[in-house]
Amino acid sequence: MGSISSNLQEVKRRIAAAANATGRDAESVTLLAVSKTFPAADVRAAHAAGQRAFGENYVQEALAKIAELVDLRPELEWHLIGPLQSNKTRPVAEAFDWVHSVDRLKIAQRLAEQRPAWLPPLQLCLQVNVSGEDSKSGCAPEDLPALARAVAALPAERVRLRGLMAIPEPSEDPAAQRLPLARLRTMLEALNAEGLALDTLSMGMSADLEAAVAEGATLVRIGTAIFGRR
Ligand SMILES: *Cc1c(COP(=O)(O)O)cnc(C)c1O
Repeated sequence: MGSISSNLQEVKRRIAAAANATGRDAESVTLLAVSKTFPAADVRAAHAAGQRAFGENYVQEALAKIAELVDLRPELEWHLIGPLQSNKTRPVAEAFDWVHSVDRLKIAQRLAEQRPAWLPPLQLCLQVNVSGEDSKSGCAPEDLPALARAVAALPAERVRLRGLMAIPEPSEDPAAQRLPLARLRTMLEALNAEGLALDTLSMGMSADLEAAVAEGATLVRIGTAIFGRR
């Protein structure tokens, strides 16, 4: 592994190559740097290299890092990508910019109620269980349309439904990687055909970035390839 700065350059090169290969504009893919388990100093180094959006999995760990980096707060965008329990929604509503892991209406309702009025709306994605594994969080695909309609109807000045997120079952085979990613894209297209206006497909990690960009990811969540092994 190189430095955080050179790793970021390499990840951006991979995104650009994958976008080129499928005739997409590399600018249409946002890079979310997943800093979970890494110290605030590493986030600071990534920020110094130009990175602005960071993803965290664990609420307590994230709150400590956000506090430690308060001097950079106006320039940083904090995304919660890990599971969210309903008793932890308040600090999340108060400290984050995005939540990717909404998988039931109760969580979205609480975030809407608890989002402070002086902040911009919290940006939400619905996490979908695309691989059908019991162990994974995420709503079942058959429950998605009703959930999406209900979340989209929450007060727009507090929460804004932006799109879908998935963590597919890992696979080494690029063709097998693409199946669940394509499924998530199809679900987003179906919701938009029904009248929603979702613009975010949060999919792709260090090992399936290329497959995700090929299937239309607008935001890739990259940890290991930037910060190293956890
Ligand atoms: C840890 C994590 C990532 C980053 O995974 P890497 O394989 O390290 O790139 C992305 N998304 C979620 C939800 C994660 O928990």
